[in-house]
Amino acid sequence: MTAFPAPAREALGLYVHVPFCRTRCRYCDFYRVGENAARMERFLAALEREIRHAAAPGGAAAPDSVFLGGGTPSLLDPLQVAGVLAALESRFGLAAGCEVSMEANPSDLSPERLAAYRAAGVNRLSLGMQSLCDRELSLLGRRHDARRAADCVAWARGAGFDNLSVDLLLGIPGQTAASFRRTVEGAIELATDHVSVYLLEVHPGSEIDGLRRRRPGLFPAEEAQCRRYEWLAERLPAAGLAQYEISNFARPGARCRHNLKYWRRRSFLGFGPSAHSCVGTRRWRRPADLAAYLADPLAEEAEDSDPLAEEIFLGLRLSEGLALERLAERLALAPAELARRVAAVRPHLELVAGRVRFTAGGFLVSNAVLGEILGWREAIA
Ligand code: SF4
Repeated sequence: MTAFPAPAREALGLYVHVPFCRTRCRYCDFYRVGENAARMERFLAALEREIRHAAAPGGAAAPDSVFLGGGTPSLLDPLQVAGVLAALESRFGLAAGCEVSMEANPSDLSPERLAAYRAAGVNRLSLGMQSLCDRELSLLGRRHDARRAADCVAWARGAGFDNLSVDLLLGIPGQTAASFRRTVEGAIELATDHVSVYLLEVHPGSEIDGLRRRRPGLFPAEEAQCRRYEWLAERLPAAGLAQYEISNFARPGARCRHNLKYWRRRSFLGFGPSAHSCVGTRRWRRPADLAAYLADPLAEEAEDSDPLAEEIFLGLRLSEGLALERLAERLALAPAELARRVAAVRPHLELVAGRVRFTAGGFLVSNAVLGEILGWREAIA
């Protein structure tokens, strides 16, 4: 057990990776294995051991965010979730008002199950809605339809969830401007508190990659996606969901406290196979291998990281952006020179009130823009 220094009184975030899924979505690139009751029990025992041996960084305040992600955490029954939260509470002593998020697949939920998760201590639900178009859901290989996802929102409200997020995808094969708008308008009508809209990534070798090679015409062109994103970045704020990160929109008070820790590069501990941890400048992860994790849940792999690249990439994605002075210092450039270069990267970057951030149009090319910015540093080094 090793304790690492962290900035004084910074509240820690805790992440638990639940690596089980009932079926595999065609676009998935997360570490996951098939659902199996016996393996899930063994996983929970290993997880408890891992948590028992973990140590909060020296000087850190009690954790104020927990995130159960995966995989599919909603395959755990509410008693199992309560057990995981009790283990975290016993080891770390969670802060009063701690945000406890859980990702959930609509197929797994019912009014009773949602009430039991709420009673177990989950107070923020992140629902994997993805689309409100059945054809798109079927192409993605999702287990649920649009009706079921909408029902889950109503059931979650009835169960007492007052912090409810939905995940949506942009760039689904077959998605049109009209179907994307219907999905977004549907999420607005359902009065969710938080919406995350991610760009569908086509990973080489994935099922969806095979579909793209066979039927490229099904996939929206980059220009069309850009226009849809620009529409989204106006529509959600007009409906009261302010943008605070390039993919995330929230009603007042409903920003995801846990994810903000990632984007602001605060300290967090991850538990479960493939989970990452970050304390100060040190990063490590558990191997993405359930069998290895069951054999030794404390085994870790050091992670290479480029703190400057992370700080820039994550900071520019936030609506608050990065202070020009800070970025200039990190890149060893004079602020005026940096401002000149930022202006040259229009329309992908903008400088607002002394802070630099991606524009809506920068969303789709953020990796390329980051490469360009890091190139400024390398040219100097
Ligand atoms: S539910 Fe999530 S983790 Fe599981 S296969 Fe689908 S995308 Fe992957």
